[in-house]
Amino acid sequence: MSAIPSAVRARVRQKARNRCGYCRSHQQYVLGILQVEHIIPKVSGGSDDEENLWLACSMCNNAKHAQTHAMDPLTRQRVRVFNPRKQRWQRHFRWSSDGVRILGRTACGRATVAALNMNNLISVTVRQKWIEAAWHPPRDE
Ligand SMILES: [Zn+2]
Repeated sequence: MSAIPSAVRARVRQKARNRCGYCRSHQQYVLGILQVEHIIPKVSGGSDDEENLWLACSMCNNAKHAQTHAMDPLTRQRVRVFNPRKQRWQRHFRWSSDGVRILGRTACGRATVAALNMNNLISVTVRQKWIEAAWHPPRDE
């Protein structure tokens, strides 16, 4: 894990705009440090190359674990998990009208929401508080 140079970590963090690539939580609103994660997990052959790294919160990173594919609950199709470096978040996800839930727009989005448990009770509760504080959803979404 520490094989990733700090300069690479810093570039990944900057490129990810200091947000989780999956649930979009910003570093300034979470207690734990956002982690540099492997888009293709190391156990699945993913490398430490910068192109395989992105930023994720511990909730998303832990839920994602070694998954590269997941099932779309709508079509029951097995698809790749969202790649925050190569795919656009807005194409695959959107916020629910009340802003607390992430909804998949595509098979990839729906599968990722389910696989990463992105609308778990803690996340939904915290997002509700962020909305009350006018911190959420992110203004660019
Ligand atoms: Zn997250």
